[in-house]
Amino acid sequence: MDCIFCKIANGEIPVRFVYEDDLVVAFDDANPQAPVHCLVIPKKHIPTSLDLDAADNALIGHMFQTANKIARERNVADRGFRMVMNCNREAGQSVFHIHLHVLGGRLLEWPPG
Ligand code: AMP
Repeated sequence: MDCIFCKIANGEIPVRFVYEDDLVVAFDDANPQAPVHCLVIPKKHIPTSLDLDAADNALIGHMFQTANKIARERNVADRGFRMVMNCNREAGQSVFHIHLHVLGGRLLEWPPG
């Protein structure tokens, strides 16, 4: 399967991991939109959030726990940060392997563009 995030997760494309365990990896976004901009991805290939099923519930919870851990480690937890998962084209999804953006370190406006 030609998926860039699968290749990152399995080490085929070398990236410095901020965090790794059996289920997920996290790494800095290559095109950061904030001083802190990490991506948390599952090792399992899931194209979009619409492809999640009930068996993935614990995995999604673990992705959020991982995002919280990164936010605390990067000192943005208390001041505020944002977790974003884009789904499909109009939301801006460009990599079709789900990922949680963890953004922080500046004032994040609402609504997003
Ligand atoms: P999205 O547009 O929500 O699908 O987010 C995809 C994100 O992946 C973008 O923010 C990209 O900058 C990021 N990205 C794509 N390729 C890489 C890569 N090789 N390493 C790190 N981040 C990447």
